[in-house]
Amino acid sequence: MTGFDPSPDAPINTLSGFFRDHFGGRVRKVSLDAGFSCPNREGADRRGGCHWCDPSGSGPAKSESGWEEVLRAGAAKLSGKGFKGAIAYFQAFTNTLGGTSRLEEVYEKALSVEGVLGLAVGTRPDCLSMETMEILERLNRKTFLWVEIGMQTMHDPTLALCNRGHGHAATVSAFGELHRRGMRTVLHLIAGLPGETGDMIRESFEEAARLDPWGIKLHPLHVVRGSEFEKWHTQGKLRVLGLSEYAELAVRLIEVAAPRTVFHRITGERPEGMLVAPAWCLEKDRVRNEIYRLLHETGGFQGRLNRKN
Ligand code: SF4
Repeated sequence: MTGFDPSPDAPINTLSGFFRDHFGGRVRKVSLDAGFSCPNREGADRRGGCHWCDPSGSGPAKSESGWEEVLRAGAAKLSGKGFKGAIAYFQAFTNTLGGTSRLEEVYEKALSVEGVLGLAVGTRPDCLSMETMEILERLNRKTFLWVEIGMQTMHDPTLALCNRGHGHAATVSAFGELHRRGMRTVLHLIAGLPGETGDMIRESFEEAARLDPWGIKLHPLHVVRGSEFEKWHTQGKLRVLGLSEYAELAVRLIEVAAPRTVFHRITGERPEGMLVAPAWCLEKDRVRNEIYRLLHETGGFQGRLNRKN
């Protein structure tokens, strides 16, 4: 764990700061689509996917050259530029879906690529069988690893409305098992899901802080092309947050989170051609500056309101 000491001068424990402490220099993630699918899109009951999800499975577009080449090229690009190496980030779709031998083969292949320092595996909380947990635990003993699971909100009616395909209990259970096995876990949260009030969003933030994950990723609900929410938005059935509304919520999460929690993201990012709304999501620096400005103005910092602090 990092020796980060939050204060008004260093208000957020960021992933780049963690990398510097842990690896002694800069590290970059290489996002991959290794050809996994998603049980919520292509399972036997074909639920159609989460309503915010786009055809790329919330990850990078599939490359013609294959994920291994993407990883090799991504890691090679870093050498000689002052980076310590790369994290192979299995981001698109559900990266624990597949036979255990396929999973082991993919993860081991990634680790064999020159310059790869570790793995990040994005998945759903209801897609972590005990066999998969065992593979991840084994890998965690021999390399640097984190597992990302989508919590999004603690409110089951919202999860159902968004066609998430599981409730909050699945997140608590998967998180508990990952934690018991000593694995770094990152929780994903979305602010501004349909039907949620500010109080509901803040309740989810408190719940995430109670779980006390190693890392958190937050982004505002953003409508992307090809998603079900694009239809809702076109029909005027979906309101998106304004920038200042979002910034206030993000500050709240930062303040209720534990001081050591690593913030992997405090805003979303989509290529211009993919984003429908809100337009301010394209201006990542502006969003980040607004969050930092609010923290600065109020003397806020990470962990200020954390109950375990
Ligand atoms: S967001 Fe993830 S879990 Fe949901 S449909 Fe897309 S790939 Fe599947």
